[in-house]
Amino acid sequence: MDTDFKKPLAETWKSFNPSSLERGPTDLNHEERHRDFMRQALELARLGVGLAAPNPYVGALVVDPNGKILGSGFHTYERIKHAKVIALEQAQGKGASLKEATLYLNLEPCCHQGRTGPCTEAITASGVKRVVTAMRDPKPQA
Ligand SMILES: [Zn+2]
Repeated sequence: MDTDFKKPLAETWKSFNPSSLERGPTDLNHEERHRDFMRQALELARLGVGLAAPNPYVGALVVDPNGKILGSGFHTYERIKHAKVIALEQAQGKGASLKEATLYLNLEPCCHQGRTGPCTEAITASGVKRVVTAMRDPKPQA
C-alpha cells in the first residue's frame, strides 16, 4: 500500500493493488493476521479522508481463509455506498463463496436506515463467517 501522505488521494487509489496486501495463511499467527488486515482496513479508510463527511472514514476488506483478499472498499459520501457493501459486492462479483470469509472493518457496521440500508443486513445476507471491527460506533443510532 502506498503510504505517501502528500500524494493526492485519487493517485493513491489508482495505484492501489489489493493483491499487494495479500499474505499467505502461514505468514502470520492468528492475532497478527487480524491486526495486519485491520491495519489495511484503516489504510483504506484513510483514502476517504476529505471525501466522507459527514460520515465516518470506513475501510473494509473481505478475506478468505487463505489470506486472499476477495474484496476491498472505502466510503466516500458522494458515491453513497458504505465500505463494507462495496467490498462485499466486489467479492460476490468474483463469484467467491463468502462462507469461510472474514470481513475486516475499522468501525462497527451501521444497523439503521439512512441514505443506504443497514450494513448489518448486507453483511448477514452475504454469509461471511466472521466480522472483525476495530471499534464500536459512538453514534447512538448506529
Ligand atoms: Zn453502513
